[in-house]
Amino acid sequence: MMKMNLLGLSRAIHPKDNKNTSGMEIKPISGFSIVTIPLDMQVGPGCEAIVAKGDHVDIGDPLGKPLGPWSVPVHASISGTVESVSVQILSDGGFAEYVTIISDDKQTVSPLVRPPDVHDKQSFLETVRASGLVGLGGAAFPTHIKLNPPPGKTIDTLVVNAAECEPYITVDQQVCLTGADDAVEGALITAKWCEIDTVIFGIEDNKKEAARALKKAVERARQSAMWPSGGVSVKVLPTAYPTGAEKVLIRLLNGRIVPEGGLPADVGVIVQNLMTLHFIASHMKTGMPLIKKAITLDGSAVNSPGNFEVPIGSSIEDVIEKAGGTKTAPFKIIMGGPMMGVSVDDISRPILKHNNAILVFDDKDAVLPEESACILCGRCQRACPMQLMPSALDKAARAHNPNELTQLHVMNCIECGSCTYVCPAKRYLVQNIRNGKAMVRAAAAASREKGEKS
Ligand code: SF4
Ligand code: SF4
Repeated sequence: MMKMNLLGLSRAIHPKDNKNTSGMEIKPISGFSIVTIPLDMQVGPGCEAIVAKGDHVDIGDPLGKPLGPWSVPVHASISGTVESVSVQILSDGGFAEYVTIISDDKQTVSPLVRPPDVHDKQSFLETVRASGLVGLGGAAFPTHIKLNPPPGKTIDTLVVNAAECEPYITVDQQVCLTGADDAVEGALITAKWCEIDTVIFGIEDNKKEAARALKKAVERARQSAMWPSGGVSVKVLPTAYPTGAEKVLIRLLNGRIVPEGGLPADVGVIVQNLMTLHFIASHMKTGMPLIKKAITLDGSAVNSPGNFEVPIGSSIEDVIEKAGGTKTAPFKIIMGGPMMGVSVDDISRPILKHNNAILVFDDKDAVLPEESACILCGRCQRACPMQLMPSALDKAARAHNPNELTQLHVMNCIECGSCTYVCPAKRYLVQNIRNGKAMVRAAAAASREKGEKS
């Protein structure tokens, strides 16, 4: 088997960053008459409904009961009456229960919302879970699980991901400019209760003002009783894609290489997105669960690009309308950035906990290039931050060959899309590699099942 490691920046690409909304404050949008909230917005099983048609709910009331230890609760983002609880298809093709709430226009906050009592690691993790928190950078991994690695893993470093290397998205940058103190406080709280010595913020050098604001907030926090023994630093990294991918960021910030198939915890690191830590600081003060989300709204079809804070469950259509509407018919809508985001099939889809952008493109920008034959130029391989062979993975995935995909280390792919971006033949590489990963998972599950039966 080929020896794998990370090359970090030497294999980065430089797509146009299109940070058109840099410096635009995050404006709250309210007045939504209806929200539709999926009870599954995370990695792992979600929730089952504990409300029914006709129930009254206030902001922050739980709507669902977690289905397992990985699950986090889901809360009402507006006050009003439950219109329906129905099973609907998710944007990734799965199914989940959705709770639809019709607003009473009162925005009443639930009496259950009150500052938590945190006194040790366990109560901190329980609080984080009860808040409904998942990774807000786009991954939706349950935060209480990430902060509690399996026994035997000693964590000495909390890496705070403020890289925001995806084009268009600027909400993290804006949080640095206006809420850096809370982001730093969230990091200190997390480091304290999870007994982590060192905190490192990673940010790219195309966000100079944001980096300055973070450094000043770190200086202000130096007198805090929660200041960790190994200190807090802000490292400014050269702008490149995908600096914000967990494994790449760890390599760039402290030189550690996460082993193939391993997790950051294997090298003593936990990575949290800046927005996640900002939320933790705010939740500790107010007890308000995760009911709203800051997103960048941009793209060629949007009238007024900007950064907005909206209730979770508000429809993309309503958000676009309230934010200024479109100047032309939307042809393609992406949740997330253009490199790693997912296309949305229906404009009525709700804003999810982990959405950090909605990009809306016109017909010219939405054209899917036609694929042609691979010309064996090797550009995809040179662009891959994981040192994979994307053209070979693409071929094995199209041939439905899970054994070859495994030998080619398909599970090491971080789905960054760099290979697709550089391919002159416009091959749908990352899409096929994603399918290839699903084939390997399915083959492993089938073989486990066979083993159990024999
Ligand atoms: S999508 Fe996967 S194969 Fe393609 S460049 Fe990124 S890590 Fe490499
Ligand atoms: S970049 Fe495209 S054309 Fe070049 S080797 Fe990779 S898949 Fe083939």
